[in-house]
Amino acid sequence: MAVYTDAVCKLCRRERQKLFLKGTKCYTEKCPIDSRNYPPGQHGTSRRMKISEYGVQLREKQKVKKIYGLLERQFKNYFDKAIRQKGVTGENLVKLLERRLDSVVYRLGFAPSRKSARQLIRHRHVLVDSRITDIPSYLVAPGQVIKIKEKSKSLDLIHNSLKRIKEGTYPWLSIDKASLSGTFLHIPERADIPLNANEQLIVELYSK
Ligand code: SF4
Repeated sequence: MAVYTDAVCKLCRRERQKLFLKGTKCYTEKCPIDSRNYPPGQHGTSRRMKISEYGVQLREKQKVKKIYGLLERQFKNYFDKAIRQKGVTGENLVKLLERRLDSVVYRLGFAPSRKSARQLIRHRHVLVDSRITDIPSYLVAPGQVIKIKEKSKSLDLIHNSLKRIKEGTYPWLSIDKASLSGTFLHIPERADIPLNANEQLIVELYSK
């Protein structure tokens, strides 16, 4: 699968907000957004371009794509799926992205970032309903149990990452830190998803 190869912190600086792409570093004072919150590049501090309506919509889409680590085609596929569902398209889109297995593993605290969650999944450390599932885009359904494989339970990465998670942080998930397992209780409400984005702008962009 193709991946972004840019220095990931530059992606956050371009959006002028934390996208939490780097794992542990994002939660420390080493995060450059705290010290250099201006776009990267030679003219980062001086450039003050007026941004068009299209530009605002485009930036919002790019931001959400980066947060979930997706390429354009994958992202558009989720959008097309969201349109076909009942309800508000923008909310459907975000809910679909949160159902991806890499997102669920990240939210459960088993990995410090979605990228790292993808690696755990690809390296076959994760079980869904007792079956090894090595597809990061797998869509988790309500009631399914996500668990770390017995042999992988000693991985430091998992235990260090779990420290940032408090029980009840994400109401659609229940987490059992002792057994390194969690249940996807229900599709999350948009209001409960900590995503600083206006998905309606994405809907407007794709509707042009
Ligand atoms: Fe880098 Fe994480 Fe800070 Fe983004 S939030 S700038 S990825 S450290």
